[in-house]
Amino acid sequence: MENHGTLVLRNEDLDTQRSRLEFASAMIEDLRWLGIHWTEGPDCGGAYGPYSQSERRAHYLEAWRRLRAGGHLYPCICSRKDLAQAASAPNDADDEPVYPGTCRDRKDKDMAGFAEPAGVNWRFRVPEGEAVEFSDLNLGRQRYVAGNNFDFGDFLVWRRDDVPAYQLAVVVDDAAMRITEVVRGADLLKSTARQLLLMRALGHSPPDYFHCELVRDAAGARLAKRHDGLSIRHLRESGMTAPTVLEMAGWP
Ligand SMILES: [Zn+2]
Repeated sequence: MENHGTLVLRNEDLDTQRSRLEFASAMIEDLRWLGIHWTEGPDCGGAYGPYSQSERRAHYLEAWRRLRAGGHLYPCICSRKDLAQAASAPNDADDEPVYPGTCRDRKDKDMAGFAEPAGVNWRFRVPEGEAVEFSDLNLGRQRYVAGNNFDFGDFLVWRRDDVPAYQLAVVVDDAAMRITEVVRGADLLKSTARQLLLMRALGHSPPDYFHCELVRDAAGARLAKRHDGLSIRHLRESGMTAPTVLEMAGWP
C-alpha cells in the first residue's frame, strides 16, 4: 500500500463443488470486518472485470486456443486409475503427483479432432529438463526443474469436465488484470514455476511474487481452506478482534 498500489479482490470460484454464492459474500464480509480495503473486486467492479473466475470463461478459452495453436498442449485420455498407477508420488504432500507423460506423444487420429476443450484433460507440455528460476521477494532465489523425472511434469490446464485448471486461470487473470505483485502462501512456490512457463508461452511478462510462510495452528497443521476451526468467521464469532487476527496472521 505504501507503493500506492491497487488492491484487487478476485473470487476464484471455478470449482463448483466448493464455490457457492454465499461463500463469496461471507468472504467479502469477513475481509471487510478485518479492515482490508480493495478498490477492484466482484462487489465493487473495476476496469478489468469481471472479478469472479466463473464469469471469465471466454478469456480462458482464448488462452487455451492460443496455447494449443502454439503446440504447448496435448489431450490426455488417461483414466483416474491409470494416473494413480503410473504417477510417482510428489515429494511434498501439497503438490500434485508428477504425470509420467503417457499421452505426450500419442499420434492416434482421434486425438486431433478437438475443436473445444471439453471431454478430455489437457496438459501443458513442459520443457524437459529446463530449470525455471525466479527471485521471490520474501524467500529469495527459487529454482525448479521442469520434466517428468524432475520437480513437476506436464500439468493440467483444462479438465475433462470442462473447467479450466487453476494454473491457467490465474495466469490469464494476472495478465488481464495487470497484476504487478502476487502475495500468497509458500505452498504455491512450485506452481509459480509452472505459471512462469505458461506466461512465457502466452507472451505475458510475469508479476513479482512474495510467498508467505503458511499460518499454522498450535499443533503445526496448516490452515487449509477446508479446516474451519480457525477460519476468520470462527475467530470473529469467538470474540477475537480484527487487530488480533491480523497480528496472528503476521499482517504488517
Ligand atoms: Zn494421459
